[in-house]
Amino acid sequence: MTIDTVAVIGGGTMGNGIAHVCAQSGLEVRMVDVSEEALDRGLLTISKNMDRQVKKERLTAEDRDAALARIHPVTNPAEGARGAGLVVEAIPEQAELKYELFRTLDEAAAPETILASNTSSISITEIAARTRRPEKVIGMHFMNPVPVMKLVEVIRGLATDDETTQAIMELSRSLGKVPVEVNDFPGFVSNRVLMPMINEAVFALMEGVAEAEAIDTVMKLGMNHPMGPLALADLIGLDTCLNILQVLHRELGDDRYRPCPLLRKYVAAGWLGRKSGRGFYHHEG
Ligand code: NAD
Repeated sequence: MTIDTVAVIGGGTMGNGIAHVCAQSGLEVRMVDVSEEALDRGLLTISKNMDRQVKKERLTAEDRDAALARIHPVTNPAEGARGAGLVVEAIPEQAELKYELFRTLDEAAAPETILASNTSSISITEIAARTRRPEKVIGMHFMNPVPVMKLVEVIRGLATDDETTQAIMELSRSLGKVPVEVNDFPGFVSNRVLMPMINEAVFALMEGVAEAEAIDTVMKLGMNHPMGPLALADLIGLDTCLNILQVLHRELGDDRYRPCPLLRKYVAAGWLGRKSGRGFYHHEG
């Protein structure tokens, strides 16, 4: 099946970014979210981000309007998946939620449709096992913010076939991204390396080693990171960070991945970072 229609399931932080780049590359996009409010917010974010690209002269106003017209909001995942050549799932990082969604998508989508997950850490092999097409299930892990970041980590599950992998590598390139193929292990490469660093920064904050700004400044100026780990955690979403750490801790069985109690406390308080207005920092608007 040629991929000219993509269903993006989840219109949150990642989903709206994925919908943005797909629409900008000429694909028809169904942006699916069970929450109408999230869909409205997602569409507004895309429109604001495209306006910014127009201001910077990276996109013409005409192309922005055409791209926005290619995005169709939908509230039912099965309806969104029907007739799509590719489905990219970007719902919260909770295994049971994803398993249930993939069962639904498998029922609704045409047999040749590729089902991709943007999961940060959950096993693609286990997600694929919930479907009748494990060879067509793959990880397509975009980075945040999607319109800016070049990398797509392409994760092969145990049963993912070469044809599916090639199709996703090619599609990622056509979106202007650089795909890197990795194997299916908890956290893959990106979060296996990143999350322990973020977690350690939260431990340093909790233990009073330094204030948040100081921790981030040390990592920015001392290690040449463009962003400190706590600011990055706010960008990713503290709930997402906690979910990923829980997967690493459980699946790898090693206490070095134990989520910091302060991270748990912030998530319990609803301090989720930029998306809720407060995390390790205060965020306006
Ligand atoms: P988010 O909380 O911002 O958005 C998730 C959206 O999914 C919400 O709008 C919610 O209403 C919707 N949703 C929940 N259940 C649904 C369902 N059954 N069907 C349709 N929509 C549903 O989450 P996010 O940060 O965008 O993360 C999404 C996925 O991307 C996660 O697996 C996460 O690990 C991964 N990811 C996140 C980042 C990041 O920086 N945030 C980076 C890479 C990958």
